[in-house]
Amino acid sequence: MQKGKVVLKVCHLYPDLLNLYGDRGNVMAYVRRCQWRGIEVEVHRINLGDPVDFREMDFLFLGGGSDREQNLMAKDLENRRELLQAAVEDGLVVLAICGGYQLLGKYYRTLEGHVIPGLGLLDFYTEAGRERMIGNVVVELEIEGEHVRVTGFENHAGRTFLGQISPLGRVLVGYGNNGEDGTEGARYKNVFCSYLHGPLLPKNPRLTDHLISLALMRRGLPAELAPLDDRLERVAAEVMLKRLLM
Ligand code: GLN
Repeated sequence: MQKGKVVLKVCHLYPDLLNLYGDRGNVMAYVRRCQWRGIEVEVHRINLGDPVDFREMDFLFLGGGSDREQNLMAKDLENRRELLQAAVEDGLVVLAICGGYQLLGKYYRTLEGHVIPGLGLLDFYTEAGRERMIGNVVVELEIEGEHVRVTGFENHAGRTFLGQISPLGRVLVGYGNNGEDGTEGARYKNVFCSYLHGPLLPKNPRLTDHLISLALMRRGLPAELAPLDDRLERVAAEVMLKRLLM
């Protein structure tokens, strides 16, 4: 790919509200791994009320937020439902973490019984439980037919139960969606949902690159990415996996 020829548009939705446990590191990793390969990136930071047509975007990131923050953005998100649905059906690449993930489903019920309606774009619901699910996680997922282990950190009260939708992966260590059924996250078209903050992408370059390739493919561009020097990330992952899988 020739330098400077391609510009990917990254939409960071509610960066001021949804930014738990360094979630914005996911956007930074996505952007840097594009730039290191000569792919230009424009980052659009979209806050409450800011206009955006998701179909023009290449990568949408929604981070995690507490119940309070979810309440604040739920109405605004609802106003964007049609545009977002159209973009998702059109293959928009989305990464949604924890609080952002929960609101793409049917609803999130807090411990106090308050129901925050979700967009209903994906078939799952979430209900808060008394014990928070906190800790490091290892998840096995499939990327282009290859089994990949990703690591991260989770901290949520919500238990998510999937309907007719695939999980993102299988929990090897940690709680994942609900601590019961061994599933973690959700996957629909190019939408990836996960409970892993961590942040997820800086720790798991294979997944980051997959999300970049999918965005390029959607634009009809060559999706093969030049390899980068990931020695640091690999060693960090190995240390983490060894500790957690012992
Ligand atoms: N409020 C949600 C929960 O506790 C999301 C929290 C988060 O994004 N970490 O389940």
